[in-house]
Amino acid sequence: MHIAPLARHILRISILLPLLAGFSLPASATTASATVSSPLHPADWCKRLVVRMPGVSNAMCLQSELLPTGVNSLQGFPLLARQIPAKKTKRNQTPLRVLLMGGIHGDELTSVSVVFRWLQWMPTAAAQQFDWSVVPVVNPDGFLAPKAKRVNANGVDLNRNFPTPGWQQDAPRYWANRTKKDPRRFPGAAPLSEPESKWVHDEMLRFRPDVIISVHAPFGVLDFDGPAQPPRRFGRLLLNRVGVYPGSLGNYSGVHKNVPVITIELPNAQKMPSDAEVKRIWLDMLRWIIENVESQSELAKVHSVSLPSSEPPKK
Ligand SMILES: [Zn+2]
Repeated sequence: MHIAPLARHILRISILLPLLAGFSLPASATTASATVSSPLHPADWCKRLVVRMPGVSNAMCLQSELLPTGVNSLQGFPLLARQIPAKKTKRNQTPLRVLLMGGIHGDELTSVSVVFRWLQWMPTAAAQQFDWSVVPVVNPDGFLAPKAKRVNANGVDLNRNFPTPGWQQDAPRYWANRTKKDPRRFPGAAPLSEPESKWVHDEMLRFRPDVIISVHAPFGVLDFDGPAQPPRRFGRLLLNRVGVYPGSLGNYSGVHKNVPVITIELPNAQKMPSDAEVKRIWLDMLRWIIENVESQSELAKVHSVSLPSSEPPKK
């Protein structure tokens, strides 16, 4: 007479066990086995992004005119970008090229929102003097993880994965000794080991930016690497150099490629600055670019006259 309850109990265990086993799998195993469909329509990717973006409506996302770049994140989310050619330039000058990126760290939610907000102002005269390449979410897997996280799906800090000279020794050593193997700052097994950082690197080669703007949070400062007069302030954000790290974008581009990088650290990763502050940062940034950034192609012309280049041609 106890057989029936026992059978039910066994049945319950047999149903529960695979579920429990599934929960205990390491993250990498579940990631590898998960089938993630690639959302190809703006309505699909906006639906997923908008729930994470403070201060950005679904309509604003749909109007952003982002397009898939053809490169996906590890988990199959398209890396979205918008290319916007300049319209107004002073007397046939080559327009300056600005690469603007947000969300390289997936848990810095406002860094993505701010780029979406600025995309709305691309039709203004102030913005139209530049060629833009805009990538609001460099690390969609970190951004869209059940709990947003800094690193990508492989657990790599993309902003430590750029090929700075000596990376093979310096990046793992810095991670072990200085961060005490902080999992949020793991530089990866090799430079450009991740599709997201590799895409940024490829875009730098293709677009040849004169300046790179990378938006982060929550330190509430500006950081600057590279040639040019550093900005003193954008809105309420003041220049405060945070440091140079092996494998960081600022180190790679600003220090080693001589393409200036401004790192904008918003004051809060979840709460947006006021609308007025979002605008002030934008206008101060555009003014600084106009007054301080030199065109790389103009610089190249000067160099080709004065000294023959020993570097192999870029592909
Ligand atoms: Zn960051």
